Amino acid sequence: MKKVITVCPYCGSGCKINLLVENNKVVGAEAANGVTNQGELCLKGYYGWDFLNDTKLLTPRITRPLVRRQRGGEFEAVSWDEAIAFASSRLKGIKDKYGPDSIMLTGSSRGTGNESNYVAQKFARAVIGTNNIDCCARVCHGPSVAGLMVTLGNGAMSNSIGEIEDTKCILIFGYNAADSHPIVARRILKAKEKGAKIIVCDPRYIETARLADLFLPLKNGSNMALVNAFANVLINEKLYKPDFVADHAEGFEQYKADVAKYTPEYVAEITGLAPQLIRDAIRMYAAAPSATILWGMGVTQWGQAVDVVKGLSSLATITGNLGRPNVGVGPVRGQNNVQGACDMGALPNTLPGYYSVTDAEARARFAKAWGVPSLPSEIGLGITTAPHKIAEGKVKAYYIFGEDPLQTEPDLSMMRKEFEKLELIIVQDIFMTKTAMVADVILPATSWGEHENVFSSADRGFQRCYKAVDAKGDVKDDWEIHSLMAQAMGYPMKYNNAQEIWDEIRSLCHLYAGATYEKMADLGYVQWPCPTEDHPGTPWLYEGNKFDTPSGKALLFAAEWRPPLEKVDDEYPLGLCTVREVGHYSCRSMTGNCSALQTLADEPGFVQIHPDDAKKFGVKDQSLVWVSSRRGKVITRANLNDRVNAGAVYMTYQWWIGACNELTVDHLDPISKTPEYKYCAVKVEAIADQ
Ligand code: SF4
Repeated sequence: MKKVITVCPYCGSGCKINLLVENNKVVGAEAANGVTNQGELCLKGYYGWDFLNDTKLLTPRITRPLVRRQRGGEFEAVSWDEAIAFASSRLKGIKDKYGPDSIMLTGSSRGTGNESNYVAQKFARAVIGTNNIDCCARVCHGPSVAGLMVTLGNGAMSNSIGEIEDTKCILIFGYNAADSHPIVARRILKAKEKGAKIIVCDPRYIETARLADLFLPLKNGSNMALVNAFANVLINEKLYKPDFVADHAEGFEQYKADVAKYTPEYVAEITGLAPQLIRDAIRMYAAAPSATILWGMGVTQWGQAVDVVKGLSSLATITGNLGRPNVGVGPVRGQNNVQGACDMGALPNTLPGYYSVTDAEARARFAKAWGVPSLPSEIGLGITTAPHKIAEGKVKAYYIFGEDPLQTEPDLSMMRKEFEKLELIIVQDIFMTKTAMVADVILPATSWGEHENVFSSADRGFQRCYKAVDAKGDVKDDWEIHSLMAQAMGYPMKYNNAQEIWDEIRSLCHLYAGATYEKMADLGYVQWPCPTEDHPGTPWLYEGNKFDTPSGKALLFAAEWRPPLEKVDDEYPLGLCTVREVGHYSCRSMTGNCSALQTLADEPGFVQIHPDDAKKFGVKDQSLVWVSSRRGKVITRANLNDRVNAGAVYMTYQWWIGACNELTVDHLDPISKTPEYKYCAVKVEAIADQ
């Protein structure tokens, strides 16, 4: 038996794992002593590998290229030459007929490495000639990136996962660490053991609330009002740091005016919180010698998400909780390499290394390195705006790499209708997902565990994964598939291994220039910025309180609170919020094929409902129920749970039966275009004769 070092392919905690390999088969996993996980794993780390053995529990592994010559027809297994010729000629035909911007592409954060994301965006920009490339950051922490880029000049976590346990106060806002990032939750627990104060703002009594000093069960959809009230108290009670603000921030007078009316009394009705509780919470945060704010999807999956991120950033700024260890702002990134997909430019507005596509000098430099005369300068489409452009007849082809939009996007019936209008759907994946089922071409890839690559964890840490087993079947590395497609379309893209790609990335991006494969060997951890090979990496940002904004100062910001788009009424009396399930991840194509995890939780999923609401609607615990919204109807199982607030229900989005995105609404934040997954009006009906 040999041990192979890798990084967990699920959440962004970046846990290092030793895969135990016998006769080219993974037979177990044990925790390695990585920088973020310190020899610990959650259950997904321990048991989330046996999809590699193709268990066929949820859906089979794709082991041959597949082509469907007619919509509605059968898939036909073909050779790689035939699949690439078919896909590339159809893609080229669409490009020639409708132009490059008629093609939409994705990167992938689902256990897919930085090198493959880099090659995917290079294919989009240098071969197709479009910035229409995006990744799942659009539906998770896109608002964090957009908000923090404006207020601080950098969209990432300011400090490190390891520092969380040494802060003296943690303000946890809309972030269920125990289910989303169990290893981060462990750091929160350790902070508590070391004497830190814990404040939790969440409508549900989540696990972290159990150890909180103060728990603020705010009403769903009232985030902006509460953040403004926190700022109001800090200013009115003079709890902020005027010298820090004077020296390192701008916009204070406008900020003060904008939050003036948001007294705790003013927001009491909006938030459902007692004014004294709001005061106590922010006084606790301001009094701590060091404090950090952590947030998750409870902040970002709203129609007013970017404003709230800017507001949270402003709380950290005016209390001087930036630019030193154990403080900061922490958008804890979801999927294991969503930070990396963004780092690599799988976004419609940035090249690798966060150079803007509107920056002519950066475009010229990348174009020269890639051997093309120019690169597109218009900001492209995102995953959530592409369906609208399909509806307008402007997008004709979709090249989907390691994403499953027909499971993960909001309002799935609308999504399916738009997908039917596409002239070409190419899916590059490891499993037969819901989206793969409607594809014209499926290009099967090697999986995590079957190749080597670099991942970025949530705190900007680069780590290497090593190959554990040979892939079974006729599959190729993702970067090789994109390279073959590029060659067939007349562009000479060729790499011999992942390190060649990584070294090209380093040569083009000053943030990553010093992060060599050698420094990341074994348990090595290099956090960007790492501009030179003798640089150790950067655990915390903004040294000397110099921010990455054009002025070098942090921008303060507040906005008027806006309620969620949909309203509950007599017909749809409950607010649906989508949440996490600790044993499964994302569209479940990987965790659904792991026997231990599937045993823990299986379809048809569940809807969490407060016992008072269950009684009102005649619903029994564990009974099957219909959940309906104005867009769809699904069957699921009721989970009576007094940890959830009355008036709201909660569902996870992994399930094929009980897919809550049949219900969710396509309402987007106006800046980040992130959907309001956290609120739509639904009803829950008991199914008779059970
Ligand atoms: Fe660590 Fe996240 Fe994997 Fe769990 S799912 S082992 S917390 S990286």
